[in-house]
Amino acid sequence: MNRKNRFDPHVHSRHSPDGKDDLAAFAAQVDAGVADGIGFAEHYDFLPLCGAWNYLNEAAYLEDVNVWKTKGYAFFAGVEVDYARQVEVEIRSKLNHFPFDFVIGSIHTLPSGSVSDRAIDHFYDDTTFDRMLTEYGQEFAASLKVPEFDVAGHAAVFQRYLDAPFFAGKPWKARIRDLEAHLAVLAAQSDKLLEVNTSGLFTVLKSSCATPFFLEQYRAAGGANITLASDSHAAVHLRRGFAEVAPMLEALGFTRVFLPWDRDNPVPLKDYL
Ligand SMILES: [Zn+2]
Ligand SMILES: [Zn+2]
Repeated sequence: MNRKNRFDPHVHSRHSPDGKDDLAAFAAQVDAGVADGIGFAEHYDFLPLCGAWNYLNEAAYLEDVNVWKTKGYAFFAGVEVDYARQVEVEIRSKLNHFPFDFVIGSIHTLPSGSVSDRAIDHFYDDTTFDRMLTEYGQEFAASLKVPEFDVAGHAAVFQRYLDAPFFAGKPWKARIRDLEAHLAVLAAQSDKLLEVNTSGLFTVLKSSCATPFFLEQYRAAGGANITLASDSHAAVHLRRGFAEVAPMLEALGFTRVFLPWDRDNPVPLKDYL
């Protein structure tokens, strides 16, 4: 049998509140040749204002994935933690209790508001947005030090819904570049895989998170260990955008894609596509 190379390590099924499909629908996509295997990364939230608070039934989820593993599917039971420093103790305790295959640490919720929602009214208050950029930097930096995390999810994700009018007459472009340059160095110095999340291609941003600029800074600082993931919430979106970002990744010198559940065996980028 050929080696399995074509994965998608950030996918939401109906074990997440915003997931549209059961694992059977994803298995059908594997049967159809869309992917060799899938890393599910269900929302795992620890603050009441997060969208998936108290939603994941850990035991039922692990059992569901296990059923498909037993049938021969290369399915992995991961979680996408909505990281916040104020609940880090609880996060680590849960992650040490349940045997998930991998963990993505993502920032969705800051003290000053959400950064991953489509609703960005609060971003238009300059004082609030400036504070949110500072908070994002602090939370992202702290997330890189959480031992249980394998992957730094969608870096600088707050840009996904910012349009040209938002930036008009504001200093935010330069401010965000400085923040990205700083966080890229921290990511390169960390032991985490850096996620190239293609969902941003299908938003106002029209770019992956991490962005090409972030990835360029990450490379310059010696970073090489990326994942490539779609953040699909539906089976039809599996591996969406991978072919589009591949030339950019190649141009920046990324030659391998890492699997969060098997870090010792990265896949050559050309075999991953
Ligand atoms: Zn996310
Ligand atoms: Zn996600």
